[in-house]
Amino acid sequence: MIDYLIIGSGLAGISFSEIALQNNKSILFLDNNSQNSSKIAGGLYNPVILKRFSEVAQAKEHLLIMNQFFANLERKLDCKVDFKLPILRKFFSIEEQNNWFSASDKANLAPFLSTNLIFKKYSSIDSPFGYGEVLQTGYIDTSLLLSKYREYLMENKLFREEFFDYTLLQEEIDGIRYKDIRARHIIFAEGFGMHSNPYFNNLPLDGTKGELFIIKAPSLDLDVIMNTSVFILPLGNSIYKVGATYNWTDKTAIPTEEGKKELVDKIKEIINCDFEIIEHFAGVRPTVKDRRPLVGTHTSHNSIHILNGLGTRGVMLGPAMAKALFENIEYQKTLDKTIDIQRFNKKS
Ligand SMILES: Cc1cc2nc3c(=O)[nH]c(=O)nc-3n(C[C@H](O)[C@H](O)[C@H](O)COP(=O)(O)OP(=O)(O)OC[C@H]3O[C@@H](n4cnc5c(N)ncnc54)[C@H](O)[C@@H]3O)c2cc1C
Repeated sequence: MIDYLIIGSGLAGISFSEIALQNNKSILFLDNNSQNSSKIAGGLYNPVILKRFSEVAQAKEHLLIMNQFFANLERKLDCKVDFKLPILRKFFSIEEQNNWFSASDKANLAPFLSTNLIFKKYSSIDSPFGYGEVLQTGYIDTSLLLSKYREYLMENKLFREEFFDYTLLQEEIDGIRYKDIRARHIIFAEGFGMHSNPYFNNLPLDGTKGELFIIKAPSLDLDVIMNTSVFILPLGNSIYKVGATYNWTDKTAIPTEEGKKELVDKIKEIINCDFEIIEHFAGVRPTVKDRRPLVGTHTSHNSIHILNGLGTRGVMLGPAMAKALFENIEYQKTLDKTIDIQRFNKKS
């Protein structure tokens, strides 16, 4: 009998397993590599929604949990995955500079928006109005993190590469049974794959497709993350990750010509040098209609839980949401009603 059977080893699943392991619980993962959102993500964390100049909900608290989480993982996996880098927002007018200063005056945004405008000259980028710098930002190398974490799980026999067949799940008095596995709890963390889950597929997980590139641009000398209509993230050796698009109708993880054109056009709005597309990825973000995560326990099955809906911010949200779910299951700590799946229960 193990404590937790976890379905899905993306950012949600590994966030939960780490909290469980730190609390001396036993775990086992099943994953069939059917979703790739965490693997291909930009991996950026940014406490400010720059489009609207608003703070990401509970940003301070989530950053704190996230920083600790990835620092622990770096020690455990013995590799660097958290790269602290400023995010620069390019200004296109004096008005945009003024909007930045008004936003940085707000108490909740002040810790995150620097009031020193940046006028550094980057080759191949024109920016006469300079840049605003967002603080406490960076990116997680999610692809490296996931592959190192998978290695760790395999070495410790905590991972099985297989499809979870929902029809074989049985409830027992003290937990669940699935084939030869008995567990006190099952955590579903399937990302957009949740749509095949009969226990939770009534929840409004929309899914937003995103495409991104890895490019090579030898004439560009960026050492920070540039974020305007798309982000440009330096990976070293003239290689950059660029993304991402947002498509609300196509729900496949297949790169498209339309996505490619959109990204190329947006890159050309920012940089004026040649670049070569080295890779082109696509994935579906597990986004929810009300833009809040899906966390909690099934109404009629108290051993069956969900950790999903991390949307566009899996890096910042994953560890905090996993902690909230773990404490809810183990210590009956109440879930915030904005993340609890009970908010979608129809009231009669
Ligand atoms: C283009 C793009 C760019 C992004 N950029 C960022 C960014 O910069 N910063 C950020 O914070 N977030 C970003 N995101 C969002 C982030 O990737 C997601 O919030 C996060 O990855 C969701 O993690 P997850 O574990 O819920 O889902 P997933 O990563 O999709 O993981 C789900 C796992 O469940 C497995 N699975 C599903 N069904 C089954 C089944 N029946 N049996 C077995 N296994 C199953 C899948 O194989 C998969 O491994 C981006 C996403 C995309 C697509």
